[in-house]
Amino acid sequence: MKRHILVLAVLAILMAIVGATKVRYDNYKVFKIRTKSLEQQKLIENLAKESKSFNLWHSGKGEVHIMVSPQKFIQLQNYTQTFNLPLEVMVSNVQSLIDGEQISKATDNAHTFGWTRYYPLSAIEAFLDDILAKYPDVTSHIDIGTSYERRKIRGIKISYKEGNPGIFIESNIHAREWITSATATWLINELLTSTDANVRKLAENHDWYIVPVLNVDGFAYTHTTDRMWRKTRQPVNFSPCIGADPNRNYNSHWMENNGASSNPCDETYAGTHPFSEPEVKALADYVTSIKERLNIMLAFHSYSQVLLSPHGWTKELPTNFDHLMAVAKAYSDAVLQLPYKTKYTYGTSSDAMYFASGATNDWAYSEQGIRLSYTIEFRDTGRFGFILPPIQILPHCEDTIAGLLALVDKADELGYLKVKYA
Ligand SMILES: [Zn+2]
Repeated sequence: MKRHILVLAVLAILMAIVGATKVRYDNYKVFKIRTKSLEQQKLIENLAKESKSFNLWHSGKGEVHIMVSPQKFIQLQNYTQTFNLPLEVMVSNVQSLIDGEQISKATDNAHTFGWTRYYPLSAIEAFLDDILAKYPDVTSHIDIGTSYERRKIRGIKISYKEGNPGIFIESNIHAREWITSATATWLINELLTSTDANVRKLAENHDWYIVPVLNVDGFAYTHTTDRMWRKTRQPVNFSPCIGADPNRNYNSHWMENNGASSNPCDETYAGTHPFSEPEVKALADYVTSIKERLNIMLAFHSYSQVLLSPHGWTKELPTNFDHLMAVAKAYSDAVLQLPYKTKYTYGTSSDAMYFASGATNDWAYSEQGIRLSYTIEFRDTGRFGFILPPIQILPHCEDTIAGLLALVDKADELGYLKVKYA
């Protein structure tokens, strides 16, 4: 009997160890494949759907990036040769990028929050608490709601005075896009502490609603288990695969025009129905409740360095397309002037990237009447992809504030910052 208990105890320990093991990407490579047509783009996208050994990192006009396990290199090579598509290694070992991302933790002061490393959710929450305590007159906590795994989804409002136009920032809806929440927390700090006259104007003459991590479950999972996780963590009844793509789950032309997948094992799985993901429903309910106060909606993503306006679900242009492009151009031009020379392109989601239905930018624009609405895909263009080295966080944040200053200026010039509520 005793022996039996001992065996069980050992088994339990072993299972705990296995459960805590992180997914490794040793010798996984990311390939860049240049495509000449939408058909060719689709060919690679379909390959990514075939097996867990392939994972789509980026798919856009003329270029698809795909992560491949070492066992599948040959298959990819044969496949691309068949269609005469040039193949180029972009990342030679994904695991070494992930390991490199972790190194700075050891050298960094773990007790102060900053922007020279990436932090887990608990540290981001502590940062928000700290900010709320330090600036009680101009900040307030936003309770967005609760995730599938019962985590709190938190946001912060920064408001220096009554009667400001509103800017909403949704960030880290895709779990693996860590640079987005690093940027969002930096922005919160910058708006409250900067002494730059232009940033002070930006901070004090607008109401800011910022949700640094929307997909809290997925984000936690990228820290504990799988750095490359993208979706939510809600199981799907009829499938062994977990989670949906929250940025395909909004109730706006949901699942139209192949802008999302109905296969739960795909990275762009739209969910069982619109708003099936509690995180998306929570954000939508909150935004709906304050939509009269919002003039601009920005959804932070990575990577690709592009501003994407509506529409994602159709090639039809939005009615204020020219203005949407002029405002995006202002952002792009301003960023390009910095010494880093980061080049952002812009266009509608469906044109510059691919058909995407049920995304935040479309939902905010079409269903909530927020006429300036963008997905912003941050650094880089694929050298590091989702695993942007911590040393780039601060330079990237400089890019972002320069871009935002120009974006808001242009929005004002074009008359988009008039207060809608009485
Ligand atoms: Zn994303």
